[in-house]
Amino acid sequence: MLSDRALAAFRSALGADRVFDDAATRGVYACDETPRRVEPDAVLFPTSHDEVAALARIAFEHRIALTPRGAGSGNVGGALPAPGSVVVSFECMRRVLEFDPANRLIVVEAGVVTEEIDRIARSAGLFYPPDPGSGAYCRIGGNLAMNAAGPRAVKYGVTRDYVLGLRAVTGDGTEIRTGCRTTKGVTGYDLTRLLVGSGGTLALITEATLKLLPAPESVATLRVCYAGNRAALDAVSRVMQQAVVPCALEFMDHRAIDAIRPTGAADDLPPGTRALLMVEADGAAQDLPRQIAALQQALAGEGLLEMKSGFERDAIVQLWAARKSLSHAVKQIAPLKINEDVVVPVSQLADLVDFIDHTAHAQQLAVVSFGHAGNGNLHVNLMVHPDDADEMERARLVHDAILLRVLALGGTLSGEHGIGTEKRRFVAREIDPPTLGIMRAIKLQFDPHGLLNPGKLFPD
Ligand SMILES: Cc1cc2nc3c(=O)[nH]c(=O)nc-3n(C[C@H](O)[C@H](O)[C@H](O)COP(=O)(O)OP(=O)(O)OC[C@H]3O[C@@H](n4cnc5c(N)ncnc54)[C@H](O)[C@@H]3O)c2cc1C
Repeated sequence: MLSDRALAAFRSALGADRVFDDAATRGVYACDETPRRVEPDAVLFPTSHDEVAALARIAFEHRIALTPRGAGSGNVGGALPAPGSVVVSFECMRRVLEFDPANRLIVVEAGVVTEEIDRIARSAGLFYPPDPGSGAYCRIGGNLAMNAAGPRAVKYGVTRDYVLGLRAVTGDGTEIRTGCRTTKGVTGYDLTRLLVGSGGTLALITEATLKLLPAPESVATLRVCYAGNRAALDAVSRVMQQAVVPCALEFMDHRAIDAIRPTGAADDLPPGTRALLMVEADGAAQDLPRQIAALQQALAGEGLLEMKSGFERDAIVQLWAARKSLSHAVKQIAPLKINEDVVVPVSQLADLVDFIDHTAHAQQLAVVSFGHAGNGNLHVNLMVHPDDADEMERARLVHDAILLRVLALGGTLSGEHGIGTEKRRFVAREIDPPTLGIMRAIKLQFDPHGLLNPGKLFPD
């Protein structure tokens, strides 16, 4: 437990009403979206960069580990408290510090909710492209730490592509500023790109300067049904080989379609649908018919059952209904979802999905796959009953086989969810020892006593 001296120091730096060590609060902050729980010793709610710097210096002096936290929506245990650690919640740092439409940038504190940034940008005809599915409640600090992304990544890229600069505090309480306010800049090492995706292991990010883009004028959507996975994924390859880049290219396999049937969201799919693509284009209204025609041409091929298009808001919402109902529907299959977030080169996606199908079938396991096919990013969900030891062991075999296959296909362990506690076991399979050695040395430079989010990212 925290010493009285450390607790008193935190209270004096933040105010007594921003430091909680009662059982109820520690219980609330004991987990993220993963099923494991570890109660922190206390939870701190700083309200400014200066308070974060002060608490980091106290933690350094008393050698207290810190677990940074946004909304706790991460699915890899990134915000799972390390035993004996103190959670630093950024939810009270919600100020928009500057909105500068003329220079297409916005400066926000780490606790601002992601969709809020997009909403403000749109008020001036701009937009913030990264669109994680959790955007209505996750916070930009968590997005930055995990390099979050969403369907629009296929055209617009990921969080890292929209960060001009950061303000942050390292493990010994040193305050740093990285990057600049311009879209070009090559002065010094690119610490901004290093901190983005570092999972809270290098620094506590307090403020971010984000790049915005002009908002596209219009959007059009295609819902495309196929007789099988391979037909759909071959179409994905064809789409990614031609000139029109869609702003979403999402895939659902047959188990995902089966999962939504009880909700009624699959009722208007043609009989025999075993795979689905959601494809979206954006841009000037008069250019959309040209883009959609090019995409339709690429999407047509063997196994195509139906292609429906929507240009108006209501029609678009209707077409997305099947995909949007998926998250909730999947949870009805089994009490626990082991969620993987692998990526392979787009041309290898069909092979990976075939492999997953065969392996899951051989082990009699329910595995639902869907994801951001245009990036080769597949969410593989192993649906299990945690009390069934035999099923859990089969799930472990399937899980490990899938990750090894992904690496063999030239892929990577995580596209957007990060490593956290859950995927550490496999990191050394992807990153070679000399490279991991440099990463560990960088970690020591930022965090000499290993106080920032210990037990995450690195293998033991
Ligand atoms: C329904 C659902 C849909 C999702 N869809 C997507 C999706 O489409 N794309 C996607 O990328 N992810 C998705 N996620 C995962 C998750 O929402 C993202 O990883 C998100 O970026 C986490 O943000 P958060 O604020 O909840 O962070 P948390 O979960 O609280 O933390 C995530 C990580 O960031 C660190 N961290 C948080 N704040 C800071 C800070 N200020 N400084 C340093 N480190 C910090 C934490 O220590 C932790 O390691 C989804 C999750 C759910 C539940």
